[in-house]
Amino acid sequence: MTTPTPLEPLIAITPPAIGCAATGCPGTVAVQWRRRLTDAELADALALEQHRRETAAAEADPSGPPPDFGPMPTSADYTRAVYACGRHALSLDLAAHVHAATCTAPGAALPGCDCTPEPLPGEQPPTTPDTVTLPTGWVVPAP
Ligand SMILES: [Zn+2]
Ligand SMILES: [Zn+2]
Repeated sequence: MTTPTPLEPLIAITPPAIGCAATGCPGTVAVQWRRRLTDAELADALALEQHRRETAAAEADPSGPPPDFGPMPTSADYTRAVYACGRHALSLDLAAHVHAATCTAPGAALPGCDCTPEPLPGEQPPTTPDTVTLPTGWVVPAP
């Protein structure tokens, strides 16, 4: 029986603290939603992914085809969980959306937030209706 060789240390990424994200709140986590990564968090995530790919490529069977990892992920591929206690929770409707990296929720705007959350999957962002200029003399009937 051989002793397994210790694994190469991974790039350290500090996991987010599991606690209410409101400043100074000691509350127990009751709800969670997601937000995009900040630029620094995205850089960490991409560095970790690059390390993972290099490690996998180095350990791949040299007689086989080289591993194909596809394009590097983008910010659209990552979200981070935001935790809050019941007192600092967003509304249920808002918590269903992915929030911006700069979203300050849970904050002063509760039960809303200060960012424009992304539309839900399959949901189209609101569009302004097309306007049509009618010929002279034509009027739109009252509804
Ligand atoms: Zn709280
Ligand atoms: Zn938000």
